[in-house]
Amino acid sequence: MKAAFLTSPQDVSKHPLGIGEVPQPEAKPGHLLLRVRACGVCRTDLHIVEGDLPSRRERVIPGHQIVGEIVSGATAELPLGTRVGVCWVGGVDGNCWYCQRGLENLCDSPTFTGYTVDGGYAEYALARADFVVPLPPALDDLHAAPLLCAGIIGFRSLRVAGVEQGERVGLFGFGASAHLTIAVLRAWKCEVYVSTRGTSHRRLAASLGATWVGNETEKPPVELDRALTFAPSGDVVVAALGSLRKGGVVAINAIHLDRIPEFDYDRLLWGERQLRSVTNMTRSDARDFLSIAAEIGLHAKVTAFPLDQANQALIAIKTDSIDGAAVIIP
Ligand SMILES: [Zn+2]
Ligand SMILES: [Zn+2]
Repeated sequence: MKAAFLTSPQDVSKHPLGIGEVPQPEAKPGHLLLRVRACGVCRTDLHIVEGDLPSRRERVIPGHQIVGEIVSGATAELPLGTRVGVCWVGGVDGNCWYCQRGLENLCDSPTFTGYTVDGGYAEYALARADFVVPLPPALDDLHAAPLLCAGIIGFRSLRVAGVEQGERVGLFGFGASAHLTIAVLRAWKCEVYVSTRGTSHRRLAASLGATWVGNETEKPPVELDRALTFAPSGDVVVAALGSLRKGGVVAINAIHLDRIPEFDYDRLLWGERQLRSVTNMTRSDARDFLSIAAEIGLHAKVTAFPLDQANQALIAIKTDSIDGAAVIIP
């Protein structure tokens, strides 16, 4: 089968992904073989490809927002031809301290799609049957793909930040995840304040119903109840903290940050403000978010790339040169 694969991480400008023929994965017990119909491109893929996250395999096919159709390994609940989604968490051990307490997103021995096992930048992919999510028919392939990480993680961030109906919520950065999260916030009647670099990102935020939009150095004009950060930048985290009311929460939506600069505790954190990270996702986050997405008619803004252009798709994410999400169509 044709795939885009990584053997040695380096800067995306050097086109680290090889594109070519690799053996098709073989069906195995408890797994489904999927024909990939679309695969979203996530910032985490960029961190893997550039080596910000340490290599876990000699050769890996990235991609963890897979829309696939079951071609082998079908069961009574998941018949042949069913359209399913595969996410970043491709499996957990089920028996560690965290799994036993329903915190599977923090599992000690998780499987990560497109990192510890091969992902979806390919014509076929293998997935654990108990970790796929059936996709509502209302969501087509291209628009469902970015929901599977960007969307689910954004939704989990809302849960981690404790967002309630009608609150004032800040979004710091406005890429693939934030542009989906704002739709849920609007459905919850929240006021949304967006600080982001890039004129086109600001225009998109305004068109999606933001109450206020500013550039990355501008502070929202009101104190926020919650703030979500999406940029891999510690400066942004500190800016978000500086916008909170007492008792407010910042949820950091990033698997990797450059560093967090020193900041003034008395002014920025005292007053029971909280700083929390958002780590991975649970299957219930995925199910709950996809059903909300179908209900509110969530429509991701996407740019499609053929598999041959996988390196270019990553460059587009890195340089913030497209609005919304990038999706590879093999
Ligand atoms: Zn576990
Ligand atoms: Zn992701």
